[in-house]
Amino acid sequence: MEIKKLLDESNRYIMNTYNRFPIVLRKGRGIKVWGSDGKEYLDFVGGIAVNILGHCYPKVVVAIQKQAQRLLHVSNLYHIEPQIKLAKLLVEHSFADKIFFCNSGAEANEAAIKLVRKYSKEHFGKEKFEIITAINSFHGRTLATVTATGQDKFQKGFEPLVPGFRYVPFNDVAALKSVITHHTCALMLEPIQGEGGVKIPDLDYFKNVRELCNKHNVLLILDEVQTGMGRTGKLFAYEHFNITPDVLTLAKGLGGGVPIGAMLASDKVASAFVPGSHASTFGGNPLVCAAAIATIETILEDGFILDQCRRMGECLKDGLKGLKKEFPSIVIDIRGLGLMVGMEVTRECSAIVKACMERGLLINCTAGNVLRFTPPLIVQEKDIDHMLDILGEVLSRLS
Ligand SMILES: *Cc1c(COP(=O)(O)O)cnc(C)c1O
Repeated sequence: MEIKKLLDESNRYIMNTYNRFPIVLRKGRGIKVWGSDGKEYLDFVGGIAVNILGHCYPKVVVAIQKQAQRLLHVSNLYHIEPQIKLAKLLVEHSFADKIFFCNSGAEANEAAIKLVRKYSKEHFGKEKFEIITAINSFHGRTLATVTATGQDKFQKGFEPLVPGFRYVPFNDVAALKSVITHHTCALMLEPIQGEGGVKIPDLDYFKNVRELCNKHNVLLILDEVQTGMGRTGKLFAYEHFNITPDVLTLAKGLGGGVPIGAMLASDKVASAFVPGSHASTFGGNPLVCAAAIATIETILEDGFILDQCRRMGECLKDGLKGLKKEFPSIVIDIRGLGLMVGMEVTRECSAIVKACMERGLLINCTAGNVLRFTPPLIVQEKDIDHMLDILGEVLSRLS
């Protein structure tokens, strides 16, 4: 079909919730995607941290094909082999003892909010229900998670919001101390704020957060929906900070491109959920679990991919720092961990994103003026060089 007709029908039939770019993507392989018109793009968005192994990673595709022929779905009224195997893999490679599966990041956070409230009420009384989150955080779009999200722009129009949430500046221990009371049941934080502009906390922030939580019987929920699955060069970002959370949420990269979310918890906290407490029809169904097993097994295989992620992350940051030197009037800051990298610029970055797209490069803009790079962990140096060439040309035209 002709592009113009596709765009017309997209606007006509699909609810208007996204500011979409006027291209139609049809096929992907590795770090490349192709439009319906055949135009090739270098994809440094990667589904915003979803396509952790790139597009159509062969081992993931084969796992999906095999599982699709065996069993697509059965109810969670029954045990499911791929779900058991995936849960075991996640437990063996994290702090957690138990997993709950769902279908998205918002649902994983929603489950976490329900779990910590139930746990805290049962152990400390019904007055302990408050959840503290960070300003400029992002936790999802359901009513509870959009309430947890510390940004007015996502909440406006949906009031009344869910009661029992408070907000503090990120990376500010004193602010946390000043709001924790006997009502506080949990802190919910991203290890690195993604949507908020790739904000990395001080090295000892989470150590202090953990100590505060211990002191006040407050649970720590880490939202690793974006930072998890090797994105930062470790399987989970908390491993950088030498702490463990009580609850951790995953989605985005977990399924290598299929919709799956998970909430991980220690036995102590997980025991608050009993049959009937929480459920999801599709959560952890055979098809998506098969894809997630192939994804996590690939990431863990002899440490090669995590190693590559750390090396390519440094290479990407070095390259971007080169552009910062070259264009000091446009580029303010380069920051990132592993392959979650941000470039803060002096202006609204949508013009840069658009110009890059016209030249065959997909990058994302977040928090208004931060270019966000979340390429697949299989990105190579030649891809980074190619990306830097295109971005450099765009910046030189703007300066
Ligand atoms: C994307 C994201 C979410 C929401 O995930 P959905 O799958 O869109 O519901 C939650 N938290 C963080 C940190 C995210 O980056």
